[in-house]
Amino acid sequence: MTYRPLDETTVVDYIAGRPALVGIFSDLSRLSIREVGDGNLNLVFIVENAANPNESVVVKQALPFLRVAGDSWPLTRERMRYEIRALLKHNELAPGLVPAVYDYDEEMSLVVMEHLKHHEIMRRSLVARQRFPRFVDHITTFLVNSLFFTSDFYLTGPEKKLLAAQFVNEQLRKLQEDFVYTNPYKMSPENRWNPLVDDAVQAVRRDAPLKMAIAEMKQAYMTHAEALIHADLHTGSIMLNAEDTRVIDPEFAFFGPIAYDVGAVLQNLILNYLSHYAHTPDPVERAEYQAYLLEMVRDIWIEFARKFDAVWAANNRGELVPQSYWAFPGGDEAFVEYRSRTIRRLLRETAGHGGVKFLRRVMGIVSVWDFTSIQDLRARAVAERLAIRIGRRWVMERNSVNSIDDLIGIVQEETADVSINEP
Ligand code: ADP
Ligand code: MG
Repeated sequence: MTYRPLDETTVVDYIAGRPALVGIFSDLSRLSIREVGDGNLNLVFIVENAANPNESVVVKQALPFLRVAGDSWPLTRERMRYEIRALLKHNELAPGLVPAVYDYDEEMSLVVMEHLKHHEIMRRSLVARQRFPRFVDHITTFLVNSLFFTSDFYLTGPEKKLLAAQFVNEQLRKLQEDFVYTNPYKMSPENRWNPLVDDAVQAVRRDAPLKMAIAEMKQAYMTHAEALIHADLHTGSIMLNAEDTRVIDPEFAFFGPIAYDVGAVLQNLILNYLSHYAHTPDPVERAEYQAYLLEMVRDIWIEFARKFDAVWAANNRGELVPQSYWAFPGGDEAFVEYRSRTIRRLLRETAGHGGVKFLRRVMGIVSVWDFTSIQDLRARAVAERLAIRIGRRWVMERNSVNSIDDLIGIVQEETADVSINEP
């Protein structure tokens, strides 16, 4: 079928014409449709049988342009190919942690997937100070399974290259290269920042050591094809409830640095931490929730490192360091030490990429809802100044980081005596 954007009427006929969807709806005559896309790039329809709301699917279709940036960043709908491929791969490697795929259509640039009815976008739940006892376990399994099993630690050389060739994704990669690593730190018309933090933003733009460090992280992002990364794993790409966690929206997926995904998760939790200086006026309530978030950051890193090491030790199938390579006296210990060094390198790169991402959320094209939902610009500036200070230190101090407590320590030092001017 040649491409045409669906609307709330045409989506019904489209669904009715897809054999793969026949079993899902017992009655096609009473489908109700809602477009719910809050994203910047795509249409998202919820399709429900009005007579039986248990029967529902989500249809996500790419539009042939980028909603948020207008004409200056043309973007073809080819990106849906990558989203489909990544969703299928994630379903294979981390089933139950991503929406199931029912059907897809590359011509129409769309995917039909499981409707996550009982899940909320994580950002919103965190602003509402909810707690998720199973999240650490779920997200670390997603990270380890999706990253380890697509890396040279697990795949053979040819397997890895053939898989990587499926994820060129040159257009969305350029968006991140521009919008995460370049444009926020120079004059560029799409940049947005709070005028009350202008001095701090301008200081970043002329901070030579920081700009050299950001350029190093950008080069790593562009060239370090380590594993199939989600590449947009912020808390708006996670839907969850107390029992269940799903990672959605992998359209940016490509072979990049493992630490980019880990950094995105940790850094978004800390942005949320900072947003509570405005969202949670009661100091006791705020301190309790912020402590919970920092504990979550610590636990995610520790569990990620533990699972990554265990999965690697048990599945050292890749051609990077085959078992026979360690067949010498002391080889087993050397392999243990090599894994530990690799994981420490991942932590340092997590600091680098995560640190850059703090900065871009304050001075680039898109902030995060945790911050933009703070109406009072003075209150928002408190969180934003802290984000700049923490981000800068994560980037600049990354090569001396040895444990997650070093990164958490930076957050604690920078937030030790925050003064909030009451209105
Ligand atoms: P975009 O790529 O345009 O940002 P997303 O994949 O993030 O699109 O989806 C936009 C919104 O649609 C999400 O924030 C969420 O509210 C909703 N959504 C997306 N996928 C699902 C799903 N499988 N089930 C329920 N809601 C979904
Ligand atoms: Mg998206």
